[in-house]
Amino acid sequence: MKASKGMNDDWLIQGAVAGISGARPAGGEGARLPAGCDIRVRGGLIQAIGRLQPEPGEAVIDARGCVVYPGWVNTHHHLFQSLLKGIPAGIDLPLLPWLAAVPVPYRRHFDHEHALRIAARVGLVELLLSGCTTVADHQYHVYPGMPYDASAVVFDEAARLGLRFVLCRGGQTQARAMTDTVAPPQSAPETLDAFMAGVEDDTLRFHDPGPMAMRRVVSAITTPNWSCKPEHLRVMAAQARALGIRLHSHLSETWDYVRWARDVHGCTPLQWVAQHDWVGPDVWFAHMVHLDDSELHLCASTGTGIAHCPQSNARLGSGIARIPEALALGVPVGLAVDGAASNEAADMASEAHAAWLMHRADPRAGQRARAGGTQPGGHAAALTVDEVVHIGTAGGARLLGLGGVGTLAVGMAADIAVYRLDQPRHFGLHDPAIGPVASGGRPALRALLVQGRLVAEHDSIPGLDLAELQAQAQTLVAGML
Ligand SMILES: [Zn+2]
Repeated sequence: MKASKGMNDDWLIQGAVAGISGARPAGGEGARLPAGCDIRVRGGLIQAIGRLQPEPGEAVIDARGCVVYPGWVNTHHHLFQSLLKGIPAGIDLPLLPWLAAVPVPYRRHFDHEHALRIAARVGLVELLLSGCTTVADHQYHVYPGMPYDASAVVFDEAARLGLRFVLCRGGQTQARAMTDTVAPPQSAPETLDAFMAGVEDDTLRFHDPGPMAMRRVVSAITTPNWSCKPEHLRVMAAQARALGIRLHSHLSETWDYVRWARDVHGCTPLQWVAQHDWVGPDVWFAHMVHLDDSELHLCASTGTGIAHCPQSNARLGSGIARIPEALALGVPVGLAVDGAASNEAADMASEAHAAWLMHRADPRAGQRARAGGTQPGGHAAALTVDEVVHIGTAGGARLLGLGGVGTLAVGMAADIAVYRLDQPRHFGLHDPAIGPVASGGRPALRALLVQGRLVAEHDSIPGLDLAELQAQAQTLVAGML
């Protein structure tokens, strides 16, 4: 028996050697699936996990030697940047000059639908092949008089690949003098009324509030500090809550956020957004690198979430977010790749590997572990593989409000990644369950299911011509040079 069937089929994933459930590890224990972790899928859901025998009519995915994880949940991205990787003018710059050198001026190359479509396709394919099944895209390439429907384009590209997609409808209602250094129209702000109308229109067209929704819409001004007037924030928050959608933005990515809030408003960035109703279990921010203790506790007490982007934070020299401390306090944390213009490999496998390593190398983790001691260094248990898988799957699903997604458990959505550990880097592994994260690189996909639908098999996406996509991307990049 072999795979390759249509939507919502009956599957038995059989023979995997190990798996991690995505649930939050508790009390030093991991979140491993029991030995003999065959998974039965019915009607898009996980029906059973254990030692299972094939039933009549179901297709078997031979997973012998493989490891199973939930599909990754990417909680912050900018898909249009997928054609802006490694631009020399910005490769060694920190956030603000990088914004002025790369994403802002290059937006003029996305004045036609084809460029955004191909960029989105590149980014989504890269994510999918890393085992990602849910993508939240912070789509801020919006401007007055835009000649095409960007929201429809990104939803369409995700649907073609069978991915779960959350559109964080970004944009700005005021220009930012420091970075908006190029001429309109692409850098021009929308009016507040136009922004609000855009959010409402996208919600009415695309939003599904269900716990396993394939399409969600979120209100997501690009940055609360600089993309709008402060009084706009409360209006946006009220609209989002009336529509039943979530709120998302960037916050405290660099020290500039902290300095601005302190100098202009006399408080921390999180205190400032809290004064404008931008905290709560329906709010998550990308980065949150520079949080003080009071802000970590405010995140925990309000349920405000963090989309952790370790590779982008490292690439731009922004710093290392206090993720182990946030997790210990119960702050909701997800993993995210951020835009590919500040992360030249915007895939979830690389991101998970970076997260696993980075917090162990963080000297602050060592100081906490050896309080009172003087020995320098990090902490070898600062973040375990099981915790990385948790934030990259169930943790991310929590940020997005997708309660039926992100965990390998009976009754949950069948978003399942089956990884082959058959590259030399995996030879000799004693604990195969950690291989997809700890060994680094991109493990080959035996199969990837989204809501029970097979979206990739043997590392290829049915119906996708990768060579053609590469050529389309190269042509567009050549047009920018
Ligand atoms: Zn971002």
